[in-house]
Amino acid sequence: MATIHWFRKGLRLHDNPALLAAIKENHELRPLYILDPWFMTNSRVGVNRWRFFTQSLDDLDNNLRGLGSRLFVIRGTPEEVFLNLFKDWDVQRLTWEVDTEPYACSRDEKIEKLARSHNIEVVCQVGHTLYNTEQIIKANLGKTPLTYQSMQALVSKLGHPPKPVDTLVSLPRGCRLQGEIATDSKFDPPTLAELGVDEGSIEPCLYVGGETEALKRLDKYMERKTWVCRFEKPKTSPNSLQPSTTVLSPYLKFGCLSCRTMYFRLLEVYKNNSHTNPPVSLLGQLLWREFFYTVAAATPNFDHMEGNPVCRQIPWIRDDKLLRAWEYGKTGYPFIDAVMTQLRKEGWIHHLARHVVACFLTRGDLWQPWEDGMKVFEELLLDADWSLNAGNWMWLSASAFFHQYFRVYSPIAFGKQTDKHGDYIRKYLPQLCKYPESYIYEPWKAPLSVQKAAGCIIGQDYPRPIVDHDIARKHNLQRMSKAFAAGKNKTSPSSKESAKKRTKK
Ligand code: FAD
Repeated sequence: MATIHWFRKGLRLHDNPALLAAIKENHELRPLYILDPWFMTNSRVGVNRWRFFTQSLDDLDNNLRGLGSRLFVIRGTPEEVFLNLFKDWDVQRLTWEVDTEPYACSRDEKIEKLARSHNIEVVCQVGHTLYNTEQIIKANLGKTPLTYQSMQALVSKLGHPPKPVDTLVSLPRGCRLQGEIATDSKFDPPTLAELGVDEGSIEPCLYVGGETEALKRLDKYMERKTWVCRFEKPKTSPNSLQPSTTVLSPYLKFGCLSCRTMYFRLLEVYKNNSHTNPPVSLLGQLLWREFFYTVAAATPNFDHMEGNPVCRQIPWIRDDKLLRAWEYGKTGYPFIDAVMTQLRKEGWIHHLARHVVACFLTRGDLWQPWEDGMKVFEELLLDADWSLNAGNWMWLSASAFFHQYFRVYSPIAFGKQTDKHGDYIRKYLPQLCKYPESYIYEPWKAPLSVQKAAGCIIGQDYPRPIVDHDIARKHNLQRMSKAFAAGKNKTSPSSKESAKKRTKK
């Protein structure tokens, strides 16, 4: 008799309630990952994330082997795979972690029905979020909280989230694998080549995927107690040469790191020390994550403008040329282009860098739909996360949650605040590295002699600005003001709570 634990996110052995539920009956444990063709064709995954993903599966497989088990990676649709496994593996029980994304919800519903029709017990446990998102909405009398403040009020009513459960450090004898299946290579994790990635074409790896790295990284940051206690997100730098925040996001996205483990580690560091508080503290960052997860789980069409009840309808004008220039770092604004270059090469950019480029693409300068920017991020980010990506894009484009559309980031002045000399630009746009400080953010203003001396002629070796920021900003403010006026008559949930105080993320 066997129990299958179906890994999807939650690629870890620590704080994994559904995995612990899988070993309760002492049946042979079959840890499963399904390479679902739906994901291969419908989700946008760039090479850096494929690498992070394969590293995460390899790490999980290794850790399971250390316990006398292994990961079974099977290719196929979940329905096909389970139909076969229910026949072949004498399955009694199936466990998984709750996933609130719409595709996952309908998939899981089908599999649950299928399992029950085979008399297989199904156990689902919450582990990817701090709380059960349904419990938060219930505590809000069935309404989705649409501001961070209401979310904070709700979680303070609920108290701390459940404590992390024990790490799986050993398997009861009955759960260990027996026979040849334990070493059959047909179930091995995929290689990058199998996923269509040419390894030679990828940049050096800065963030190695997997639970082992996730826990090391968490330890490293939690050791910096003063830094943790003083952490204020708005004061961290978008353009430092080394990340000024934790870069735990890819690990949280794949569930290599449990958000509850991180939450309770932060409480330990805070204990008996004065510390910053939400929304700007590190714990406050986990509440941002929880906030967007909760709204996304309860909102239809959360990743679309149309049919999305929390999203303001704004008449964006799609222009492929503008989108591509932004996507490939060719807008002629060095700070924007450097950020987009870092994103493409390394797969992670700072939160405020995301702010600046998202504002530039949408309401600030290029007037492109936020959904298009979200798709580019979805492909290039290591931490691309359905709920967080859409939620933050709506925020930045002032489509939901954030309503002060007149606050526009300057693609010139903003980066100078933390990097006057432009070292970040020089790193990611080496063609501009010889520009003097006075022109590094606006190289088109440099006299031709300076351009020649720097070895980079604007319009030839680096693009001219794609729009004039001052003109575009003014024009777009008028457009936004009209869109807000048009939306006033509609009682969308976002406008209901818009009067509430501005929250700095
Ligand atoms: P830290 O500051 O160290 O924070 C710790 C953790 O808190 C993060 O790892 C993350 O899980 C969570 N967190 C922090 N800020 C936010 C936030 N604003 N919203 C939700 N959770 C947050 N984050 C993603 O994980 N995936 C995405 O797809 C994503 N898309 C974004 C798109 C845009 C346009 C913007 C403006 C932000 C987006 N973010 C996304 C949120 C945020 O930028 C990243 O979570 C953060 O920069 C990750 O770096 P870190 O781990 O060093 O963060």
